[in-house]
Amino acid sequence: MSAQPAAGTATPAHPGTTPPANPVDRVLGDLHARIGGEPLTGAVADYIPELSTADPSTFGIALATVQGDVHEVGDTAVPFTIQSISKMVLYGMALEDRGREAVAEVVGVEPSGEAFNSIRLHPERSTPLNPMVNAGAIATTGLVQGADPGERLARILATFERYTGRVAEVDERVYRSESETGHRNRAIAHLLRNFSVIGGDPDDVLDVYFRQCSILVTCRDLAVMGATLANRGVNPITGARALAEEHVPSVLSVMATCGMYDFAGQWLHDIGLPAKSGVAGGILAVLPGQFGVGTLSPPLDAVGNSVRGIRVCRALSEELGLHLLDPPRPGVAARGTAPAPAASRRRRTGAAEDALEGASQRILRQRPQGDLTFAAAAAIARSLGESCPDGGSVVLDLSAVSRVDGAGAAILCALGDTLAARGVHLLVCGAADHPRLGAEIERRADAGDAAEIDVRGDAEEALEWCEDRLLGQLGVIEDAAVPLGSGELCRRMSPEEVADLRAALEDVAFAAGEVMIAEGSPSDHLLVIGSGRASVTTTRDDGSRVRVLTIGPGMFTGEVGLIDGGPRSATVVADTPVTAHRLTREGLARLSDDPALRTRTLLLLNVAESLSGHLRRATALLAAGSA
Ligand code: GLU
Repeated sequence: MSAQPAAGTATPAHPGTTPPANPVDRVLGDLHARIGGEPLTGAVADYIPELSTADPSTFGIALATVQGDVHEVGDTAVPFTIQSISKMVLYGMALEDRGREAVAEVVGVEPSGEAFNSIRLHPERSTPLNPMVNAGAIATTGLVQGADPGERLARILATFERYTGRVAEVDERVYRSESETGHRNRAIAHLLRNFSVIGGDPDDVLDVYFRQCSILVTCRDLAVMGATLANRGVNPITGARALAEEHVPSVLSVMATCGMYDFAGQWLHDIGLPAKSGVAGGILAVLPGQFGVGTLSPPLDAVGNSVRGIRVCRALSEELGLHLLDPPRPGVAARGTAPAPAASRRRRTGAAEDALEGASQRILRQRPQGDLTFAAAAAIARSLGESCPDGGSVVLDLSAVSRVDGAGAAILCALGDTLAARGVHLLVCGAADHPRLGAEIERRADAGDAAEIDVRGDAEEALEWCEDRLLGQLGVIEDAAVPLGSGELCRRMSPEEVADLRAALEDVAFAAGEVMIAEGSPSDHLLVIGSGRASVTTTRDDGSRVRVLTIGPGMFTGEVGLIDGGPRSATVVADTPVTAHRLTREGLARLSDDPALRTRTLLLLNVAESLSGHLRRATALLAAGSA
C-alpha cells in the first residue's frame, strides 16, 4: 500500500489551531477533530496482504459540491487503493457499453444480505445478485467493451480520469498481492464462466478486475467522484462527463441499496445517502444534486466498513439533516402563487378599458416561484382550475420557476386539457428555460395529442392576447378609426373648438415598423392617432428594449416632451400602418390667441388627465410588484 502517514496531507484539524475561515471547512474540521479524538477501533484489512501495511491513523474527509468547490481536512491527499468503491464505476460503464437490458440479463439489483465476497448466485438465474458484490463486479468487468484485457483496463482508467479529473494509475504492489492470494475471487470468476455470465477466459476478466480494484485514489478524488454523480454524471470541476445522465439513477440506486456490504439496510435507514465503501478504508457518499463526500480511515468494522468513515457520514447526515428520504417541505414551490386578475400595459379606448375592467375576473395570471415538481404543479393546477371562470383565459408565468421536472410538465399539459374542456385558454410564458416542458409538449404533439398550451414569449404579450380575446367575446370593436373630435385630446370640446384645434394640426402617416418618435430626439410635437396601432418602448439598463404600452385610435403620445421640452424618453414605433395628426409647439402657441384660448386650456386639461392616468397605472403596477 502506498499510504504514508500524513504525507502530503491537507491541514490537520487540531484543537487550539486557528479555526478555518470557510464555514464548510470549519464544520468538517470540527468533525475531523471530534471523531479523530475518539478511540480508534476496528482492524485494517489483511486478507490482501499488502493492505495490512496501511497506517491505521490515516484519516481524511473531503467534500466536493456540484458547484465544484472542494473542502478538505486531514489526510485527504494520501493515495490508497479504491477497492470495492470502483464497483459503481464499472456498473456505470457496463450500462453505457451494453445498455440496461443486456446488463440486467447478467447481474441483478437485489441486496444480497451476504458478505461482499459471497460465492452465492441467484438460485434460479445463476447470476450475481447485484453489481456491488464481488461476483457482480466481476460480471460487470466482463461487460466492459474492449478488444483485449489491456484495452478494457485502459478504458476503465480513462473513465476514472473523467470522474476524478486527474491521471489514474494502478498500485502494482496491491494488485500483485491480491492477484497472488485472490483464490476466492478466482472461484467466483470460474463459477460465473460456468454459467456463461462472463465469456472467454475467466482469468483475463479477473486480471482486469484485480487491477481496477488497485487504482489509486485520494479522499479528494472520492469526493469529486461523488460530486460527479451528484451533478448528474458531469465532473463539476472539469466539466467532463463521466457517466451518461440516464444511468446516474441506476448507479445511485444500487449504491443506496447494496453499497455498504451487510450494513446497507441500516446505512440507508440511519444515514440515508447512496454510498460505497472499500476494504482499503475509503467511503464515497453522495447527496444527489448537492455534493459528494470521500473519507479515508483504514480500520474496518466486522462487516468491512471504515469505522471512522461511518461515524463521519453518520454525523454529517444527522447533524446537518442530509438524509435523502427526509423529504423537503411540501408546497414550498407553490408559495406566493395565488392566481389574480391581471392587465397588460396596453392602453385602450375608453369603451374597451371599461369593458375589460368590468370583466377583470376573466383573465387570471399566476407566477409561481421555485421548483415545479409533482406536488407544486398539482397545487397550481388545482387553484387555477378553481379560480378561472368558464371561457376565461389564464396566463401561467414560469419566469420565476427554477425547474419544471417531468411530473410538473405532465401536469401542466393535463391542466391545458382540463381547462380547454371548459373553454378556458391556457397561455404559458417564460417556458424557454424549462426544456422538460418543451419536451413534453413535443412528445404529445408527436403522439397526435397536441397539448392545449399556448406558449408565449412573455406575460405582456400573453395578457394582451387574452384582452383581445375577451374584447372579442364582449363584442367590443377597438381598432376602428376614431375621428379627432371623439378622441381623448378633444374631451369636453365643442365642434368649434375641435375645428380650432384641427386647424393647428398637420396630418402624417407611418408605415408599419416605422419609428414615429425616437428616444433621445428633441421634443417638438405630440401625435394623435387616427387609425392603427403603435408601441411605446424604452431601453432597459442592459440595453434591451421593453414595451411600455401600446396605443391605438383616439389616443395621443409624445405629450411629455411637448410639455417639458426635454429629449424624448421613449421610442414610438408603428405596429400597423398609422395615420395621425401632429401638434407642434408652434401649433400649440397659435392656439393661445383669443378666442382659441379655451381650446388650448381644454387641450392642456386633457393632456394633464392623460398624464395622471399614466401615473396612476404606474403606481398600481409598482404596488403589484410588476413594474
Ligand atoms: N479487491 C477486493 C476484493 O475483491 C475488493 C473488496 C472490497 O473492497 O470490498 O476482495
